[in-house]
Amino acid sequence: MIKEILKNITGKKHVIPFPEGVKISPEEAAKVINLHEKIGRIFGRSLRIRQVDAGSCNACEWECTALTNPVYDIQRFGIDFVASPRHADALLVTGPVSRQMELALKKTYLAMPEPKLVIACGDCTIDGGIYKGSYAVTNGVANVIPVDCYIPGCPPTPTGIMLGLQQLIDKVIQAKAESS
Ligand code: SF4
Repeated sequence: MIKEILKNITGKKHVIPFPEGVKISPEEAAKVINLHEKIGRIFGRSLRIRQVDAGSCNACEWECTALTNPVYDIQRFGIDFVASPRHADALLVTGPVSRQMELALKKTYLAMPEPKLVIACGDCTIDGGIYKGSYAVTNGVANVIPVDCYIPGCPPTPTGIMLGLQQLIDKVIQAKAESS
């Protein structure tokens, strides 16, 4: 890793490749590595995400937390998590959206500035997952707020989350091109 960092510094590159052991194909890695440039084009500099745990078992959060470790290092692509919805471009939701969290999630969504994106992260968030049909959940975030991107998995891997974000960015670029 240190050799790669030095090589990139001396070669004036700003993106460090994924270390060995991360399950990602070269094609997928190339798409994700282009993220920084794409995000710069759409969001100015960076994509800020507010994450809300809407009743998850916490495994999805662990995978999201791993995104900021030195292996995945999502900040190198200009993506970071923020504490306030007022500073966020996107809302990443985990969990089946329990009835207890429904109002808090709506309030968080309403507190975000326009335009805003919503990411459903994990099987629970997509349709309730293993909690589907329970009286205590809303069976997926789309029943509470509009969703722009679905990332499946129970839990999704950090690589899967990165690829989901990459697809979301491509969708935004395409929508922007179609509207201009
Ligand atoms: S999708 Fe799976 S890992 Fe994520 S919160 Fe639901 S049960 Fe837990």
